[in-house]
Amino acid sequence: MMKIQQIKTELSKSLSEHRYTHTLGVAESAVLLAKQYEQDQQKAEIAGLLHDCGKVYKGKEYVKPCQEASITITASEVLNPDLLHAKYSAYLAFTKYGISDTLILDAIRYHTTGRPDMSGLEKIIYVADFIEPNRKPIPGMQKIRQLAFIDLNKTVALILQNTLAFLKFSHREIDEITCKASQYYQNYL
Ligand code: FE
Ligand code: FE
Repeated sequence: MMKIQQIKTELSKSLSEHRYTHTLGVAESAVLLAKQYEQDQQKAEIAGLLHDCGKVYKGKEYVKPCQEASITITASEVLNPDLLHAKYSAYLAFTKYGISDTLILDAIRYHTTGRPDMSGLEKIIYVADFIEPNRKPIPGMQKIRQLAFIDLNKTVALILQNTLAFLKFSHREIDEITCKASQYYQNYL
């Protein structure tokens, strides 16, 4: 497994400046959330740093490298191939960055869609991706940023609700697992 500094150097070379800045923000927020919820801070930092490590393509460009990596492509990923960056990032985290911790790899794999009954680390990365300080503010962001440090499950529920509303509004493909996650976390609202 690579050291944190080595991971950062590699990411700064392979990601766009914008993506790299976002990545550092997610890692920073993930560590703060891990502290708050008594989760492993080092795992949170690594998962935060690597969550978008494969975000190096656009749309259909993901299909070929994912097929070569034997990644299963779902029906919704065919329609919205950008979703594949999460699976592809988990693949690179394993193959290129030498991460074999399933907890970290799953946090990367599910950071875009979420899923029902997420682990503590999965929820932390899901939330950190949304609230990191460099993300451009949307209505309700301040409330979500505060709530993130008070009630993690409720924050996940709100972000899922927000994301589904946005996807419906913009007529984008919705992954089935996101609907299932939203149903699962609805109880926390
Ligand atoms: Fe992402
Ligand atoms: Fe991200």
